[in-house]
Amino acid sequence: MPDSARVIAGRCTTVFEGTREQEQHGDMVVLTKPDGTVLIHDSTGYQPVAWLTRAEAVTVTDGRITASDGDQQLIVTIHREHTRETPPVTDAGIPVGACPNCADSLVRHSGTVSCPGCGALYPLPSKTTVLDDCCSACGLPQLRVERGASFDVCLDRDCDPLDEHVRGAFDREWDCPDCAGKLRVIRRGGLLLGCENYPDCETSFVFPAGRHVGTCGCGLPLFETSNGQRCPDSTCDRPQVGPDPDD
Ligand SMILES: [Zn+2]
Ligand SMILES: [Zn+2]
Ligand SMILES: [Zn+2]
Ligand SMILES: [Zn+2]
Repeated sequence: MPDSARVIAGRCTTVFEGTREQEQHGDMVVLTKPDGTVLIHDSTGYQPVAWLTRAEAVTVTDGRITASDGDQQLIVTIHREHTRETPPVTDAGIPVGACPNCADSLVRHSGTVSCPGCGALYPLPSKTTVLDDCCSACGLPQLRVERGASFDVCLDRDCDPLDEHVRGAFDREWDCPDCAGKLRVIRRGGLLLGCENYPDCETSFVFPAGRHVGTCGCGLPLFETSNGQRCPDSTCDRPQVGPDPDD
């Protein structure tokens, strides 16, 4: 079920009480969004004549729309209604290829790829590039994700799990700094490097979103991320490239 907006056009009087008190009257279009935002437009310009962003409460009756947020209140009295619609609305995003389940365009929007057509939703790993190539198994776009190395995987985690690629490349690759164990690639919420001797040793680090480029002064692997070189241990103060034992 997609969310709905509400569009009401009519001869209205709007009263805004709060930081910028004002009253306006005319034929206007009132748009309410699923997040509680209310926008009121007249005949000119891109800017609403009155608005309330993400109001806490919005009530709509036949003759009145009331939106309130803290000490701000927007009241629209509808004297004569011209039209009223509740069209479906979705997140709009950058098109990133065709949905294999329906004919629509997949769109990328703040950390997800979704389909306005069938409602499919795929979370994106952080720092991901969506490629033009499609998965040969399911037809969804491929992703390029950097977790130690660069991996091309299917957008659908269940189709071609990123974790298996990262595990295949880096499981038990590095030593635990706190005991004689090796670091495993595990998922506990996010992707982690965790000691194989858990629970005797509870050492674990978030797997950095970057390329493995060498060894930190502390002995842990060093990663090149979009914020520069990073040691997985966020408390480590000696990130530096040393000789890589595998090279
Ligand atoms: Zn679709
Ligand atoms: Zn696939
Ligand atoms: Zn350990
Ligand atoms: Zn370090």
